[in-house]
Amino acid sequence: MTEKIGVVGAGILGLAVARELALSRGAEVTVLDKEHQVGVHQTGHNSGVVHAGIYYPPGSLKARLCREGVAMLRAYCVEHGLPYEEVGKLVVAAGRHERPGLAALAARARENGVPGITELDALALREIEPHAVGVAAIHSPHTAIADFPAVARRLAQDVAEQGGSVRLAHPVKAIRERAGKVEVLAAKRVFAFDRLVVCAGLGTDAVAAMAGRRGDVRIVPFRGEYYALAGSAKDLVRGLIYPVPDPRYPFLGVHLTRHIDGEVLVGPNAVLALAYEGYTWRDVRDARRILTWPGTLRMARKHWRTGVKEVYGSLVKQAFLDAARRYVPALTAADLERTHGGVRAQAVARDGALVDDFVVDVHGRVVLVRNAPSPAATSSLAIARHIAGVVPAPIS
Ligand SMILES: Cc1cc2nc3c(=O)[nH]c(=O)nc-3n(C[C@H](O)[C@H](O)[C@H](O)COP(=O)(O)OP(=O)(O)OC[C@H]3O[C@@H](n4cnc5c(N)ncnc54)[C@H](O)[C@@H]3O)c2cc1C
Repeated sequence: MTEKIGVVGAGILGLAVARELALSRGAEVTVLDKEHQVGVHQTGHNSGVVHAGIYYPPGSLKARLCREGVAMLRAYCVEHGLPYEEVGKLVVAAGRHERPGLAALAARARENGVPGITELDALALREIEPHAVGVAAIHSPHTAIADFPAVARRLAQDVAEQGGSVRLAHPVKAIRERAGKVEVLAAKRVFAFDRLVVCAGLGTDAVAAMAGRRGDVRIVPFRGEYYALAGSAKDLVRGLIYPVPDPRYPFLGVHLTRHIDGEVLVGPNAVLALAYEGYTWRDVRDARRILTWPGTLRMARKHWRTGVKEVYGSLVKQAFLDAARRYVPALTAADLERTHGGVRAQAVARDGALVDDFVVDVHGRVVLVRNAPSPAATSSLAIARHIAGVVPAPIS
């Protein structure tokens, strides 16, 4: 009998998982998403960068699945005629004090097997990005940009071609296990699956609670706001310009990124949001749930200085401009136009630690992706293969 597997979430990850399970196990897959299109949350609101694997601790899932994911994504985009451009990335040390951090990053990138990493001085970095300044940089020539929503749409097509279905406008409302099945209530219909995989991004905690698996890490939403470069200011950036990140945080700092549609974005910052899908300051509908998780308050206590700085940067355009001008001084306030942002689903532990690595929990018939922040879009095909390996096999 064909194994029936449900997947909650039609973001890039849920769709990649569904495709992988259909292809590798011959499962009949059903993807359920509450939205009317695929990929409208994190998948559709990000920097669009195919990360090469520079930052992640060697041996971590992020390090391994990012490198594997890049190769898989590149091949997938080529196979399906989807845009994929190796525009290259500079990580720039703006001052001498950032040199040790930059050197450590170069060593880590090499350990992770990132190809083509070179270290540049102040002059050489301008050959790559003529309008950038800094005391030194590392160059990753194969860091790329892609269209993640287009990848998600293509994955949904693959699922359908394998006999599976992607059911949009199907918000999952309840889950229970009965008679060896996982029953899922969505859009007034009960689906019965042999296994269920939850890739619900910002909705992870709600779905985990429905499945009776609250867990000891919770999603804390961090809004990432962007500005777009206007007019000819776009010509000031050829590829991707990043700062040396603060190693205390999983976020990479405000960067300048060229997108597949020709836009150049500046951002994202990282502001604690008070709603899981809190795309604006006004949306505070989940404030109580987010703030009563002990991890949120412990995190806030530890990192309040950075938090205040991020809030300031969110409210005051000049702060954003200053961050960008450290690397591209020719930018002016008139060059920056506010544009849509995204919200990151970042897991935070009870002790307030920001969970760095990808986390996938197996609870019997239910597999829960608890933490899939950046570079999970880059790594989606490799994470999917990893997940397919941990979804328990059918009992024969
Ligand atoms: C600002 C920002 C910048 C980023 N930059 C990059 C980058 O440059 N490169 C990179 O690799 N990664 C980046 N990321 C990370 C990347 O976007 C995410 O890791 C990735 O998109 C996660 O995919 P997902 O499918 O898990 O989540 P999502 O795309 O958020 O999908 C989750 C889906 O679950 C659905 N869902 C939730 N609850 C329910 C429910 N109850 N019932 C039904 N459906 C439900 C939602 O509607 C949604 O469609 C960035 C993220 C952000 C926010």
